[in-house]
Amino acid sequence: MGDRVGILGGTFDPVHYGHLAAARGAAQVLKLDRLLLVPAGDPWQKGEAVKTPAEDRYAMTLLATAADDTLDSSRLEIDREGPSYTVDTLRALAEIPEYADAELFFVTGADALAGLPTWREYSELLDRATFVGVTRPGHELDVELPQGGGRIKLVTIPEVDISSTLIRRRLADGQQIDGLTTPEVISYIRKRGLYSGSAR
Ligand code: ATP
Ligand code: MG
Repeated sequence: MGDRVGILGGTFDPVHYGHLAAARGAAQVLKLDRLLLVPAGDPWQKGEAVKTPAEDRYAMTLLATAADDTLDSSRLEIDREGPSYTVDTLRALAEIPEYADAELFFVTGADALAGLPTWREYSELLDRATFVGVTRPGHELDVELPQGGGRIKLVTIPEVDISSTLIRRRLADGQQIDGLTTPEVISYIRKRGLYSGSAR
């Protein structure tokens, strides 16, 4: 049996302590050997356009996971053209020798799992990974999860009430973001002048 490998997809615009808590919590509960943060190249599920370059969003996930032996980040989606469908990501991961024998766990917000049957190639998705919903602050799970024959699970992790939206708003308002994401990410944002101009 291969390693147990988790994938946390997202925009990571920017990555923050909520993401890291979800990642560490899921890794612990699921006994993962590795959990990859996978920034989306072209996030098809987001209503608003993401203006931060994928390279910057990726660089921040790399900085945020550098000191943690279990967490890492992946260029899988940012190196691919077009929209990032989960099924493509799981197929691409299986092509990488390091992950070919891995048991995959796709970690996402619990609410998002309700829509899973509408995702592209739903039945193949369930063949390729176990789908794990983490609970989120302010998001009561009032939806019913689809039946997934054991391939759909929920994990409860301590709540961290931080979102990328909060960070972008604070920066647009000229407020500091200490304690919301790692010092390395904060320095990177400052050096690149990210999020300062637009009121998003
Ligand atoms: P935005 O505010 O732009 O929507 P976000 O903070 O929700 O950003 P995403 O990149 O959309 O961040 O989230 C990636 C994944 O991390 C999603 O599965 C999301 O549910 C989860 N997530 C985000 N913030 C938290 C948090 N504070 N606690 C637990 N999970 C989180
Ligand atoms: Mg979000």
